[in-house]
Amino acid sequence: MSVEVKDGKKEDNILVATLSMIKQAVDLAGLSLEVYEHLRTPMRFVEVAVPVEMEDGSTRVFTGYRCQHNNVFGPYKGGLRYHPDVTTDSIKALSMWMTLKCSLVGVPFGGGKGAIVCDSQNMTHKERERMTRGYVRALGSILGPETDIPAPDVFTDSQVMAWIADEYSSIMREPSFGVVTGKPLAVGGCVGRNEATGRGCYFVAKEAAQAFKIPFEKARIAIQGFGNVGSNAALLFAEKGCPVIAVSDISGGVYNKEGLDILKLIDHVERTGYVKGFPGAGAISNEELLAVECDILIPAALENQITGKNANDVRAKIVVEAANGPTTPEADQILKENDILVVPDILANSGGVTVSYFEWVQNNYGFRWDLATVNRRLEEKMVEAFNMVYSFYCEKCIGSDMRTGAYMYSIQRLAEAMHYRGWLRNGTHRQ
Ligand code: NAD
Repeated sequence: MSVEVKDGKKEDNILVATLSMIKQAVDLAGLSLEVYEHLRTPMRFVEVAVPVEMEDGSTRVFTGYRCQHNNVFGPYKGGLRYHPDVTTDSIKALSMWMTLKCSLVGVPFGGGKGAIVCDSQNMTHKERERMTRGYVRALGSILGPETDIPAPDVFTDSQVMAWIADEYSSIMREPSFGVVTGKPLAVGGCVGRNEATGRGCYFVAKEAAQAFKIPFEKARIAIQGFGNVGSNAALLFAEKGCPVIAVSDISGGVYNKEGLDILKLIDHVERTGYVKGFPGAGAISNEELLAVECDILIPAALENQITGKNANDVRAKIVVEAANGPTTPEADQILKENDILVVPDILANSGGVTVSYFEWVQNNYGFRWDLATVNRRLEEKMVEAFNMVYSFYCEKCIGSDMRTGAYMYSIQRLAEAMHYRGWLRNGTHRQ
């Protein structure tokens, strides 16, 4: 079992779980073991020291990582995370999911991920800027619009991306904004990128409800995590009339069985920083949120939230994984036994990388699409990806789950590209 002990607490190791899922998918699809060999190890993993002058005049040295997992389809692509609990294993797993995600949704990128181990929420704006610029100076030689393209992730945003674009352009001595996506519009960002992961998740949830014959406009929604992804998804569900009955963040959760007023909740979070204390709603804990009776549960916070311990409490009909890795393998098994459909992260949250791809294309060609074009193309991609994976799962994965189907589908595409690039000695499939 993929469990490790950290600070005296048992934690699921997402790298061990991911490797086991990849191996299982390679075996079930009858793919060559060489495919697994290529996918099990990142092509490059770099650790750097990032010295930062703090506001009190002291210097702190932060640890930064960049993992470049696989580039068979194109430049490495993946978010940059600022979080105190980041581990090398989690960054490797996150980069693997990016490879699988890009393959699944059909964008010409490989998988990457980066992080700085820090408590950025307790740092000042200037300290965050100096840290970000230091990270780019330490890693600049392996980043680039045709090499490796970071994007926002947990506790990084469009401002952080703008600092990366600026520092990288200084190093290159020319404007080179295509090195990152998720930038502000003023420096080559794409309309709709900020909302894209939440919007993509919304499109996928709508398709899943249809497949499960749940009347979408009445579907009761519960969302764990109310940051970029969770709040944007909540807004879209609410606009469509779906009652969003429970929402949580790191401070705890709020519940109203008639549906929360999401615009007012966003305003409350902007003023107070957290969802807690929102008027007209009852207080619930994060554990209680996962157990709320609803149609669609959307984990949109962090990894390892639905586990062997609480999966039996989940009372949703569908779980749409907006976050990366929120469900452990033990929980997957329990949810499957309880007939709960899990739309896996590599499909459900691929709206972000899809619009990142749109941004990169626009930067490369120096033109701009309008919001209606971006949203229409995103919807087309997400609906197509959901239906391809769902029918593949229904046809080929009897007795298994949709995650396995998504992994098999994605890895088959990777294997085909590896084959044509000459990375496999004996063909894509096992002899
Ligand atoms: P964010 O930093 O904007 O928001 C994270 C939210 O989760 C915040 O509301 C925070 O309070 C909450 N949170 C943190 N710890 C929590 C806990 N223990 N319990 C409950 N809530 C907690 O991050 P985001 O960009 O919205 O990313 C959320 C998830 O979506 C992550 O797993 C990320 O990897 C994934 N994701 C993000 C994008 C993107 O474009 N931003 C793309 C793909 C996947």
